[in-house]
This record gives sequence, structure tokens and C-alpha cells, in this order.
Amino acid sequence: MTDIRPLPHILKTKPYVPGGKLAGAKGPVVMLASNENPFGPNPLAIEAMREAATSVHVYPDPTYGALREAIAAATGIRDANRIAVSSGSDEIIHLLTQCYAGPGDEILQTEHAFSMYAVSATAHGAACISVPETDLTAGANAILGGVSERTRILFLANPNNPTGTMMSLEALTQLQDTLPPHVLFVIDGAYAEYVGRDYEAAIRDLVDRRANTVMMRTFSKIHGLAAARLGWAYLPQEIAETFQRIRGPFNVNSLAAAAGIASISDPAFIAMSREHNTLWRAKMIDALNARGLTTPVSHANFVIPEFGSAERAAVAHAFLKDRDILVRAIAGYGLPTRLRISVGSAEDNQAVLAALTDFTESR
Ligand SMILES: *Cc1c(COP(=O)(O)O)cnc(C)c1O
Repeated sequence: MTDIRPLPHILKTKPYVPGGKLAGAKGPVVMLASNENPFGPNPLAIEAMREAATSVHVYPDPTYGALREAIAAATGIRDANRIAVSSGSDEIIHLLTQCYAGPGDEILQTEHAFSMYAVSATAHGAACISVPETDLTAGANAILGGVSERTRILFLANPNNPTGTMMSLEALTQLQDTLPPHVLFVIDGAYAEYVGRDYEAAIRDLVDRRANTVMMRTFSKIHGLAAARLGWAYLPQEIAETFQRIRGPFNVNSLAAAAGIASISDPAFIAMSREHNTLWRAKMIDALNARGLTTPVSHANFVIPEFGSAERAAVAHAFLKDRDILVRAIAGYGLPTRLRISVGSAEDNQAVLAALTDFTESR
């Protein structure tokens, strides 16, 4: 025994459960559990990391000016000083929570929210309040009903993970207008690229519309750089300044920074990835529905078929695993009767659909 004890809210924090890897696979593994880009990283990003590798003995530029300028140029943000970069967007979630919410405070989310929000709230001693969704979709009225005087941050992924649903721009704008000024509105745009460039521009403009709104983004999904760990946020001036107080001076490694600059400066790779996703997402939804596995519309790079019961979903999960196909169980997100399947390469999508045909024909 030791007298060294973690803070009570650290002991209450349950670690995030990642998608994981398939142990003991017999052949090549079909990985459709973590919403990764099936094309891998942009070849230009790989080249940039190779080049940057020779200089890793030198600390990165602590201002990350070149990366922030590249993000600004690619996204039409006029003031690159209001862009903050991070080691994955998970770090943005943690740093914002650390800045604005502590013991006695609340962070607000919706029923099937990305679980890092709750992990971060609990780890900082704040309470995490979840409001119900309707038809797997967040709604402004329910969110406003969950706001109290203690609410510090509203986290909303739009499109949401793991549901793939999204609130319309009109609804988002209306929510922004009605949210009390003491609540920081964090729009998590991890999947915004899959919606399209107009939507990306629209959520960027929401940040400029009201000083309580932040947009966070990641290089882990459409950019195919999940292991490089790179995220960023576009923030109102005052929040950007607060954020800089606690950001680690070298929180982004120089390989990730180089990869990020190369990747965000090449819209063709992103457009190609988005087109592949749109095409295959529709094919997968149709095929799953045809097999009786009801699958709602998705705006992201994954789909969530319904298996009718938690037992059948668990059996299907194991059935796929047995064929070296890994998809995501989402019981922890309050969706025990569904599985989340990422849109992968044509070959991998065909493999999971063929396996699910066998599954539905046999049980
Ligand atoms: C994948 C994902 C992220 C990105 O996390 P990183 O730390 O940038 O890898 C953020 N938000 C949501 C909703 C996600 O699904």
C-alpha cells in the first residue's frame, strides 16, 4: 500500500475503449472497426514524413505556423492565429475541458455521443449530462432542455459517431442562436469532409457568427493519418488565447505536422476518398437493408445495421471475427442491437457483405 492516491474523479474515469485489433487472425484481416481511410495516407503525406524524418532531432516550431497557414489556406479561414493544432483531436477535447469545466460543472452531450466527451468530463471532475436523441438524431429542443447554470460545454459531433446521423445546418444555426452565452458550443467535425465542402465552409462560418462556438477537426479519418495523431480547432480569439496557455509547446510531432501540411494541401485525394465513400456507403446501406438488417441513412464513413436483438448482434460480431472481419460493437454507446461497420475498400466491403449474407441465411 502507498499513500499516493489519485484524485477521486480520476478513479471514477473509465478509459476509452478503442476499436482494437484482431488477435489470432488466420489470414488477411478486414479492419472495419475504426473508420479509417481505406486508401491509407496520401502518398504526398508519406513523402513529407520521410523528408521530415531526417530532422527529428530538432524540436518542432512551437507556433506550428506553416501547418496553421496550410490549414487556413485549404479551409478558407482568414485568421490562422485562431487555429490551434493538437496531438489528435482527442487532445482538443481534453484541453477545452481542462480550460472550462471542473468539479461542480457540467458538460452536455446527446444520448449516443462519442465517448471521449464523457471520459474527459469525468477526468476533470465535471459531470457529464446526456440528453435523449430522437430517431438516433440529436435535436435542439432536447439539448436546450439539458442546459443548466452549471453547463460549461456542449459537445456535438455532427455528423455523429457512432450513429452517422446529423443535425441540419438550419437546426445547428438555430441551436447556436438559442444556446445561453455561458455555454461553449463545440462542433466536432471529425466527419465533416464526408458531407462535403459546402458543409465544411458552413460550420467554419458558425465559429465567426458567435463568440461561443468552436469547430474541431481531425486528420485521423478522411486524411488517413490516424496513427500520426493530428487534430486542430478553429476558435474565437479569446478562447484561442486561453487555449494557448495550457497547450504543450511541442504537442504536435514534426512528422505529423509535415504530413498534415501535405495532406490538407491536396484536395484531390480528399475528393477521391469522399466519392468512394459516398458510392460505397449507399451500396452498403442498400445491401444491408435487403438482408433485413435495417440501416439508417449515414452522413459519415460508417453504417450501423440493426440485428433485432443484442444477442443476435453479438453473434454476428463473433461470426465476422471468426472470418477475420473486425467491425465495432457499440453496446457501450447505448446501441446494443447494432454494429458499426466502416466503409472500407471495395474488396473489404464486399467481404463483409458476403459474410453477412451467409449470416442472415443461416440465423
Ligand atoms: C475519430 C473521432 C475523432 C478523432 O479523434 P482523433 O483523436 O483526432 O484521432 C473525434 N471525434 C469523433 C466524433 C470521432 O469519431
